[in-house]
Amino acid sequence: MRSTFKSIIHCGDAAAKAAKDFGGMNSVAPLALIRPAGAADVASIVRLAAKLNLTVAARGNGHSINGQAMADGGLVLDMPAMKDHFRVVRTSRNSGYVDVFGGALWEDVLKRCVRECGMAPRSWTDYLNLTVGGTLSNAGVSGQSFRYGPQISNVTELEVVTGKGEICVCSETQHSELFFSVLGGLGQFGVITRARILLQPAPDMVRRIRLVYTEFDAFTRDAESLVTRRRDHDTFDYIEGFALPNNDCPDGLPSVPLSRDQVFDRTRLPKEAGSVLYYLELAHHYRSSDSISDVDMGVDRRLRGLGFVEGLRFQVDLGYEEFLLRVKKEEEIGRASGIWDSPHPWLNIFVSKSNIADFDRVVFKEILKDGIGGPMLVYPLRRNKWDARTSVALPKSEIFYVVALLRFTPAYPKGLSCESLVAQNQEIVRYCLKKDYDFKLYLPQYESQEEWKRHFGNRWSRIVERKTCYDPLGILAPGQHIFPRIINPSSKL
Ligand code: FAD
Repeated sequence: MRSTFKSIIHCGDAAAKAAKDFGGMNSVAPLALIRPAGAADVASIVRLAAKLNLTVAARGNGHSINGQAMADGGLVLDMPAMKDHFRVVRTSRNSGYVDVFGGALWEDVLKRCVRECGMAPRSWTDYLNLTVGGTLSNAGVSGQSFRYGPQISNVTELEVVTGKGEICVCSETQHSELFFSVLGGLGQFGVITRARILLQPAPDMVRRIRLVYTEFDAFTRDAESLVTRRRDHDTFDYIEGFALPNNDCPDGLPSVPLSRDQVFDRTRLPKEAGSVLYYLELAHHYRSSDSISDVDMGVDRRLRGLGFVEGLRFQVDLGYEEFLLRVKKEEEIGRASGIWDSPHPWLNIFVSKSNIADFDRVVFKEILKDGIGGPMLVYPLRRNKWDARTSVALPKSEIFYVVALLRFTPAYPKGLSCESLVAQNQEIVRYCLKKDYDFKLYLPQYESQEEWKRHFGNRWSRIVERKTCYDPLGILAPGQHIFPRIINPSSKL
């Protein structure tokens, strides 16, 4: 291999990290873990893999659940090692962009953009220890997506290494088919080596609010009203929702207050409250120079008419970075207790508005009525904020819900076995299929091409065309199990 490579680490202890991911349920060993120095290295690796009948997986921060960033006997690219590009550009008072390398962590993007020019990306994930290339290969959703769309709607240019080993800069106007293929493309069409991400002025303060509901229809009515308000200043800057068991487990009522001095006064709950409750989580951005009475008035105006339980409203004011890094605190606690490093049989689904009430009745209120030992997210997004030219598969309806079952339980034998939790996830997916829901898995995991065909629906032929065009040998992202590696009989190791 060429000397331009920063380093190449063959199998063994140094490559062991490439055989693991956050899900902790799969482990396949690569032939080598490679730390590329730049796009040229990535291109050389892909071309070499073509000759040697190998596969190549770009590994972001390995936060996949089901081995999506692994390559069984293949080459794994350690994308965070490729620290070759980071440039913040302000184009006007209120706009700008950042050019970052594909393995950059969103946490670093946040810190550098805010510190270098008081700007920040518009659309986030809840947790920022994820890479730019990793979330752009899926979508990247959070409480800002209702307004700005997912992260893939906030990128204007990419540098990509295709499965043919070609380096290509693409955008909506330049090599647009490649640009849209790669966004939400599950790593199938190219390795993202650089992304240009839109920026806007960063606020310095955030008011974070939680509003408790006992009835799912009141919860969804208010959530949908907030995400569809016409004018930005009539709604919030971030909107998410959660379901929780109505009990005193750590993921039940005690999980709702936002600071130690707040308590969940259960006497406020109406007698008819059932076994599952809900809360909306909202955030309002402001500047530290704003008067608190103006902030209070602005927030109260936005909350007017909402049907949450009186007396069960919680709020805190915190810095913008602290708000965006809120899951990092949970990570520290989880690492200390061991649940961060236990297996995570997570399930993420997009469920259409037309099916979400039934989903609540059967999944939240029956199958998961005792909770899952972690957060259960449920909040609406708007399809018109997503670009249909990307590779993401979405439900058909204009409003659909993100449902994320983020299980954090101690490893068996202290907790339930991973198999039983995976079986529960499968039961939920089977139920959605049986009822013919309009739904799609987010961060999907399927083993057979038949299932992938069903997942992509009438977009499948386009996905096949894209694969044939940009990665005809099936070299890239083998851990997604969508396309087989096409072996070239004239090549051998
Ligand atoms: P990896 O898991 O390493 O890779 C994911 C896939 O992308 C693989 O197929 C890999 O080959 C491919 N890939 C990685 N880098 C590149 C690249 N540069 N070019 C091309 N392909 C690449 N998601 C959300 O949308 N919203 C959330 O709020 C959210 N919160 C999360 C919280 C936690 C604690 C965790 C563990 C995950 C969360 N996720 C969330 C999911 C996250 O988006 C996925 O795990 C995603 O895969 C990004 O993780 P990663 O950067 O580690 O990528």
